[in-house]
Formats: sequence, C-alpha cells, structure tokens
Amino acid sequence: MSFDTVLIANRGEIALRILRACRALGLRTVALHSEADRDLRHVALADQALCIGPAAAADSYLDSDRILRAAALTGAQAVHPGYGFLSENADFAAAVAAAGLVFVGPPAQAIRTMGDKVAAKRAMRAAGVPCVPGSEAAISDADAAAALAEEAGYPVIVKAAGGGGGRGMRVVRRPGDLAEAIATTRAEAARAFGNPMLYLEKFLETPRHVEIQVLADAHGNAVWLGERDCSLQRRHQKLIEEAPAPGIDRAAIAEIGERCARACREIGYRGAGTFEFLYEDGQFFFIEMNTRLQVEHPVTEMVTGVDIVVEQLRIARGEPLSIGQAEVVLRGHAVECRINAEDPVRMLPSPGQVTAWIPPGGPGLRVESHLYPGYAVPPDYDSLVAKVIAHGPDRATALARMRAALAEMTVEGIETTAPLQRRLLAEPGVQAGGFDIHHLERLIAEGWLEAGNDA
Ligand code: ADP
Repeated sequence: MSFDTVLIANRGEIALRILRACRALGLRTVALHSEADRDLRHVALADQALCIGPAAAADSYLDSDRILRAAALTGAQAVHPGYGFLSENADFAAAVAAAGLVFVGPPAQAIRTMGDKVAAKRAMRAAGVPCVPGSEAAISDADAAAALAEEAGYPVIVKAAGGGGGRGMRVVRRPGDLAEAIATTRAEAARAFGNPMLYLEKFLETPRHVEIQVLADAHGNAVWLGERDCSLQRRHQKLIEEAPAPGIDRAAIAEIGERCARACREIGYRGAGTFEFLYEDGQFFFIEMNTRLQVEHPVTEMVTGVDIVVEQLRIARGEPLSIGQAEVVLRGHAVECRINAEDPVRMLPSPGQVTAWIPPGGPGLRVESHLYPGYAVPPDYDSLVAKVIAHGPDRATALARMRAALAEMTVEGIETTAPLQRRLLAEPGVQAGGFDIHHLERLIAEGWLEAGNDA
C-alpha cells in the first residue's frame, strides 16, 4: 500500500486542495486535465501533468480508461478521485485496484453498497443507525407500496435506489396519487440511473440536514469528527454549511456520532465518509452515506484541526489514524460559503472570463479556490469557483467574519452567488440558526429576493 506518487483525478479547487495535502506529506503529484483546464493552478504546481482529453467530462474526467493509462504512463501508484466525477463509482475503484494501484477511498464493495440506497439503509439499520421509516426493501408492486405508505403515514416520498444529486424522487400526499408517482419515478430512474428500483420513506416536512464526518483506517479504528449543518439549500444544492449544528443537544449528537463510527467498524469501512441525516423533532434519520471527501469538509477541519485529506492519504498508505476519539475536540464555530459562478437570482450558470479576483483575508479566514485574473470559467463543469470558510470562537463571530469576507472579496467578469450569501448571512432566520432545509425556498416564495437589500 505504500506509494510516493499520487494522481489527482479531478480539477478545480479540490484538485488544488489534494495537491497541497500531498505536498504536506512529501508525496509527488500527477495532474491530469482536459484541454479546457491546461492553465489551472494545480496543473502548474504538480510534479507532472498530462492532458487526457477534450473539455467534455465524458471524454476526460469521467473516462476511467484514459485515467488508468495516464497513471501507467506517469508511474503514479495511487489515485485520489476528489468529489464528483468518478469518486463514487465502484467500477472505477475496482479498476484502479485491479491495475495494482491504490484508490484513495473506501473499498469498491463499500462504494457499491452505499450507492444502492436500499442496501445502504439495510446495512445501517443492521448497525443500529436510525433510518427514516419506510420500506426495508425495494418496492415490489403497487399493493405492497400502498400498504407501506399507510404504515409510514402520508405524506411519503418515493425515491430511486440508484438516485443521486437530488434527482429521482417524488413526494406523495394522498393515497390516490401513489400509483402514478411510482410509475413516473420508476421510468425516470430507469432512464437516468439505469436502475428502476424504488423505495419509499415517510416524507419529513421540516427537517434539518445534519451530517456526521467519519474517518476509518485499515486497522479497525474509526472516529467521528463532529457534525455539519447543511440546511441552507436551494433545489437540494447546499449553499452555506456550518459546524457545529446550532442548538442540538451535544449528547444526542455524540450518540449518533458513536453509532456512525461503530457502523464503520462493523462494515469494514475505510477512508473518509459522511453519514447524512435528516433531523426533525429531536430525532436523527439516516438518508444516505457519501463514500468520499465532501465539498464542505473544511468546516470540520476548522473546528477539529484535523486535515481530512492528509488523513485520507495516510489511511490509503495503510497507516493508522493519527487521532483517537478522545483527541477530537471541537473549537469554536466555522461557516462555509460555496461561491458558484451563477446568476444569484435565477441560479443559472454564469461561465465566462474572470477579469478581477481578489480573495478576502483576515483572522479565521480560509479560501479554497482555483480562480485567478484572466481565468475563463468553462461551461463544461460544476460551477463552484471558490469556497470561503470563516472560523471564530463562536457562531456570531464566524458569521460576522464571513460577511466581512464576502464584502471584501472581489470577483469580476462573472456573476457569483456571493451577493445572495451576503444577504442570507444577515437574514434573521439564518442569524438565529437551526432553520430547516426549506428555509431559503420559503424566503424566495415570500418574495425575499426582490425585497430590499438587508446586507
Ligand atoms: P441524493 O442522493 O439525490 O442527494 P438524498 O436521499 O440524500 O438523495 O435526498 C436528497 C434531499 O431530498 C435531502 O437532502 C432532503 O432535502 C430531501 N429528502 C430526501 N428524503 C427525504 C424524506 N424522507 N423527507 C423529506 N425530505 C427528504
């Protein structure tokens, strides 16, 4: 499992983040990139760089054969997939291992199990992790589904076992609508995910999104690194994340965190992972596990002091975790804003050339970004261009530092979500904390976007 050269199979801010972690460990790096990404910072900084295809992700970052050939050509012995692209593709993880390389992530089998949400929930239930009430297996026929829905109680949500990215689900409020919802979602799931399997859950009306970060090594050790509250979403996309989750009893969180760590030990999980929960009325309900590094991992790093990417690499090298649970102590509060190249009102991508970029700074501030003046944001990829993270001794300070940071940050030439986030940080519900996942959409429905600027 030992390696000294890591191939970074990703782009943008996360490729740079991975490169920095490799350097901190004295590891050599290989950057592979598409034709659109020649001028990215991590490409210039890597020990070796290789263009593997055109801008279209299908012919570059999603082409597992090209990535494996690049590894063979450059002598890289490990592959870090980052997030998105092939990071949760079990076949890719298996192909990396079959080529005699180290996949920086969990075993392919763990990715496969967690990628099937029915199997994931079954595994979690068996490990004592509480799940949303609903089907324990895939829905077989309409009668069985109707019985299940009655048992869970309406409203229910019909979900695709192979779904992801907030797609492939439908809320059903009345028994009369169930059969049609199943037929439509099944057809959609077969088309979009190549898997028509469905399951059913009770639909929670006002949940918060609270997730637990875990790390597990190959020696049977697993720790949980506190939680993140990612309830500020629009169309199921997270916009602002924070750690810890405001107003939730620490003992309740510790109990759920311990269960997640125990589940990792029981299923032989390895690497970094996130257990996502909906939290409502004082109870946690598991919805899915992400078997990769997450965009919002820095808020956890800021409050724990643990470098999650360094830990991922150490685990992949077969080393034991550098911290035990007793050493995981939360300090202060951290907030992250995902700055997307998007029109902040209509939330449509805004690719184009960045004419000016001045990142913010100051105490407790951290910026993860691949931006530079002159950079052309390509239309081909995810629109995330920067992450701004603010840490402070308490939540109010972290929020105040974030607002100051966003006011200071200069990005010209493209539209970004920053003005929206600046306003949101001053919004009374956000300031109070503890809002549910529909908070922003409720504000929008009430005309808040058009109402005066309260930043
Ligand atoms: P995906 O993999 O597509 O992100 P998830 O199962 O994580 O799918 O669900 C995505 C989002 O859908 C959740 O964050 C939540 O907003 C909503 N959701 C999913 N299941 C439920 C449920 N049972 N009740 C209420 N909302 C839900």
